[in-house]
Amino acid sequence: MPDRIYNFSPGPATLPQEVLAQAAKDIVNYNNIGIGLIELSHRSKAFMEVAQEAESLIRELMSIPENYKILFLQGGASTQFAMVPLNLLAPDKKGTYLNTGTWAKKAIKEASIVAKAQVAYSSEDSSFDHVPSDGDYTVDDDSEYLYFVSNNTIYGTQFAQFPKSDKMLVSDMSSDILSRPFDISPFGLVFAGAQKNMGPAGVTVVIIRDDLLDRAPENLPTMFRYKTHADKGSMFNTPPCFAIYVVGLVAKWLKKQGGVQAIEKINREKAALLYDMIDSTEFYKGHARKDSRSLMNVTFNLPTPELEAKFIKEASENGLDGLKGHRSIGGCRASIYNAFPKQGVVDLVDFMKEFERKNG
Ligand SMILES: *Cc1c(COP(=O)(O)O)cnc(C)c1O
Repeated sequence: MPDRIYNFSPGPATLPQEVLAQAAKDIVNYNNIGIGLIELSHRSKAFMEVAQEAESLIRELMSIPENYKILFLQGGASTQFAMVPLNLLAPDKKGTYLNTGTWAKKAIKEASIVAKAQVAYSSEDSSFDHVPSDGDYTVDDDSEYLYFVSNNTIYGTQFAQFPKSDKMLVSDMSSDILSRPFDISPFGLVFAGAQKNMGPAGVTVVIIRDDLLDRAPENLPTMFRYKTHADKGSMFNTPPCFAIYVVGLVAKWLKKQGGVQAIEKINREKAALLYDMIDSTEFYKGHARKDSRSLMNVTFNLPTPELEAKFIKEASENGLDGLKGHRSIGGCRASIYNAFPKQGVVDLVDFMKEFERKNG
């Protein structure tokens, strides 16, 4: 078996090889202190520094001002579907949602359990092949926030421009955080599970404007309150130490690449290689409308499900793994997050050409 193949998995996803090598070393003996990273007390000076560095690197990379807290929480991005409305909405208040795919739908479901959700837009009728533009929907006056999923991991669509609204924005950025620069100021809250673009599974980064910390109702249990975690620097209870540490390493790696602006340029180049390939033939068909195409997850179909199965199998035999689309839409999906090497995309495009030549 080769040391390493190209892994197009949507998440957990490819991490930089140097990050993996460093982590492997530190797990056994962190910084030569004679204790492995995952054996360290989370209250130890060594680990407190790890967590602080991860926090400050994310703050720096994303230009997050001091009036936002950055939290490291557990429970995955999915827990945020409930925590957001639980903390930001009284039970009789509403949040507005743009239904652009599976993850938006799940968030709408949770918001409807604990408060009220206005679904202002849905692209479900066209298999979630696009995201809306600003004029396509209206937000109720009495809504507290406008919630959207910045990148729809499963359908391969992405907001090229974020919605503009007089309401505060809330976004699930699980699959494109740190992939491009943006201005945080219209946002009340942003969250992202780490395992797509930021690190291993086990930690969810929440960025919250600090005036929102006091909104939670009295009867909300302690662990579900953002304020609990904000007041204790994400150390109210044992945090996901290893995941936070790797997020810090990935952030360091990203800074070395030139930061978010530099990686956006590379992300655009990688995605363009694939979309140009798809557009150059009738054999491959992109799922997403052109104006909504994701730079992170490129979804496409072949003429038949049989050819798709053959394509995925043969790609895998050629060291191009994880190209099977999500079970809810089928087809193929190439997930090419920050850490995915450009050479892997070049190799995939070559493979696609060859596969079409033989099977087209
Ligand atoms: C993967 C994903 C989730 C779910 O994350 P979990 O950490 O598994 O709960 C939510 N939203 C988006 C956009 C995702 O890509």
